[in-house]
Amino acid sequence: MSFITLTVGLLGEHLENSLSPLIHRNFICYYSLNYCYLPFQIKTENLEKAISGAKALGIHGLNVTIPFKEKAMGFMDAIDPAAEKIGAINTIVRKNEKLYGYNTDWNGFKEPLKKKMKVKLNDKRAVVLGAGGAARSVIFALAEEGCPVISIFNRNIDRALEVKRSFQNISTQCEIRTFPFQRKNLQEEINNADLLINTTPLGSWYYPEQNPLPEEIKLSSESIVYDLIYYPDKTPLLRWAERNGNRILNGKEMLVYQAAESFYLWTGLYPDQEIINKILSQIRKKENL
Ligand code: NAP
Repeated sequence: MSFITLTVGLLGEHLENSLSPLIHRNFICYYSLNYCYLPFQIKTENLEKAISGAKALGIHGLNVTIPFKEKAMGFMDAIDPAAEKIGAINTIVRKNEKLYGYNTDWNGFKEPLKKKMKVKLNDKRAVVLGAGGAARSVIFALAEEGCPVISIFNRNIDRALEVKRSFQNISTQCEIRTFPFQRKNLQEEINNADLLINTTPLGSWYYPEQNPLPEEIKLSSESIVYDLIYYPDKTPLLRWAERNGNRILNGKEMLVYQAAESFYLWTGLYPDQEIINKILSQIRKKENL
């Protein structure tokens, strides 16, 4: 047994409101590990120095958040194939003096669908709103699980086409379609969808009270509506879907499950459901203060 405390932490530019320290400190306490989780708030121009400093100091692992998820890949010794395909890392693990980059967002995204919603994705048709970094993890996860149809809607159609190019070869069973945000196409694809996923920031802190869908869109009450935004708890999209009788999911679970996967990569322990549920209820209480 070693008495040296292992340091893990979070690398980002604005970390004041990050929930990762709360989540990881709970995991660490639950297993009584000699680890400590620290926020490292740095300026963009210091990313390379920060990563090589972390390597020299023997920092055991890091989470990487906005705006470094893509850039940090350039400073790794090796990248996990899923992260390579997604084009971003959110977790760094130090093994034998080398830094390995991973992406756990895609696992974080699908776990709540499986565990909470009891959904199997291999026969579900999905509509994804947005084609940014989060959408790439979502679409990778859906394609990996063998979703038969993924319809991507994005303001910038070239970005949606790029996502399609990246992921269309993952599964022969999976057809990826791309559309600009237009009501007629949206309604047609939503009519046939089992899952509607918002990966745009519309409805979040930065775009309060905005719904990425026009009000006139009709939604079958059978479909699940998943908004990756974790604050507020219920975005206008989720409130609208709930009124319509749909099952809804926000981004809080994804946040905790992606952290659980990072914790597993650093410690070899996958957090117990008991501590995951406890953290989720702590986050909800914190929000209601
Ligand atoms: P990003 O890379 O900047 O992508 C943003 C996406 O939203 C792009 O497709 C962009 O379209 C679209 N968009 C932005 N503003 C828009 C507007 N006014 N109207 C229509 N579309 C708009 O951001 P990201 O990293 O993917 O993050 C997206 C959201 O997911 C954020 O709210 C973030 O907090 C959330 N997220 C949650 C988790 C979680 O664990 N729950 C994890 C990651 C991200 P264009 O391409 O046309 O610009």
